[in-house]
Amino acid sequence: MPSFLGNIIENLFGKPATVKYPFEKPEPVPGTRGELNFNMAKCDQCQDCERTCPSAAITVYPEEKRIEWNSFQCIYCHACVRACMHEAIEPLINVEAPDYKKRVKSFEA
Ligand code: SF4
Ligand code: SF4
Repeated sequence: MPSFLGNIIENLFGKPATVKYPFEKPEPVPGTRGELNFNMAKCDQCQDCERTCPSAAITVYPEEKRIEWNSFQCIYCHACVRACMHEAIEPLINVEAPDYKKRVKSFEA
């Protein structure tokens, strides 16, 4: 009996390895680098995240106590999360669907 018969039978009757995205969403793998949430109660507007960001996706407005994060410019490296000494940037473990419109999220104190 050929050795691949086992594989064929398994694939015929087993569940598919993929899911029917976007109707079914897979569980994100632990450690997935998702979107960012800026906790403005912890933020002191030091601008370290803005200086660290390699894709200029963060703009801090210290006078207005406001931060803008451009989710389309972001490359999800989470360097800003590591740079923030106040742990004000909370990384989310989400995998969002692609969007049709460019979004800039604004966080205010
Ligand atoms: S590095 Fe942290 S504390 Fe500084 S501006 Fe960015 S979010 Fe705020
Ligand atoms: S995750 Fe990386 S690219 Fe995105 S805002 Fe933070 S430092 Fe910039």
